[in-house]
Amino acid sequence: MQRERVADNVFYFQSDVYAQVTAGAVIGPNWAVVIDTLAVPEETLEIRDFIEQDLNLPVRYVIDTHYHADHAWGNCFFPGATVIAHTLCRKQLATRGQQSLAEVRKQNPSFRRVKIVLPQLTFDESYLILRVGKKTLSMFPLPGPCDDNIGVLVEEDRILFAGDAFMALPYIVDGNIDDTVASLKKISKMSLENVVPGHGDIVLRGEIDGVIKENLAYLSAIRKAVRKAARRKYPQEILAEIGVEECGKSRVLIGGLAEELHKRNLHWLYVQMYGELPKATLEGEGMDYEDEGE
Ligand SMILES: [Zn+2]
Repeated sequence: MQRERVADNVFYFQSDVYAQVTAGAVIGPNWAVVIDTLAVPEETLEIRDFIEQDLNLPVRYVIDTHYHADHAWGNCFFPGATVIAHTLCRKQLATRGQQSLAEVRKQNPSFRRVKIVLPQLTFDESYLILRVGKKTLSMFPLPGPCDDNIGVLVEEDRILFAGDAFMALPYIVDGNIDDTVASLKKISKMSLENVVPGHGDIVLRGEIDGVIKENLAYLSAIRKAVRKAARRKYPQEILAEIGVEECGKSRVLIGGLAEELHKRNLHWLYVQMYGELPKATLEGEGMDYEDEGE
């Protein structure tokens, strides 16, 4: 796990093992807030040790930016904390989260120690404000990658923890392309110092506009690609041909997962716009996707 200080009392963590997923912490004089947990128990426990042992402070709140496993399954490692999230995040964790944890436990023994902990404090519109020492955290809906995604803004430092609404490559599977566009436009008006994306490296002030422009261009490119595919008899042939680079994004993004995530984006968007894909010409050419994670 990587750890970086973003500003005074604001930290960022990035996973070494899964899709460069990120988490954060805001440290007050008497207690701390954790923003998201990491994908595997070992890494979430490293965050906990850093705060509780190195800094010698309890974690009083955990904020989940959204319900996906790689962000919210570490809630159980902070038993003394109150978990805050969007109302829909609580709902998704209680249903899909519980189901997929049962599956993952069968495959990966280290997840036997994971329990789904549902957010106790939820909101679904407007803002929720949490004061941590001299810092003000504003939480607000920022949908796109999924309906329950929220942003967490450290007001004084203009640092936004964006959840998966802001990534080097937009990922809309499980979400909605129009919401993703709206959230990116909202972020572009926030005059930020830093954006901490749900996956990948911190984006600095001078880079934010460029990434947003590129992401909007990418989303419009995949919309065009899907429309083009829909005009063909075998749309999956066209979808398979349109690579991530053709849509303006590098293959190396998100720890090299870009092409794979892009393929899932195309398939998801096609199904959203036109319904199920017609049968492929070649058996086995259909793309599979999962609705959990990332
Ligand atoms: Zn994610």
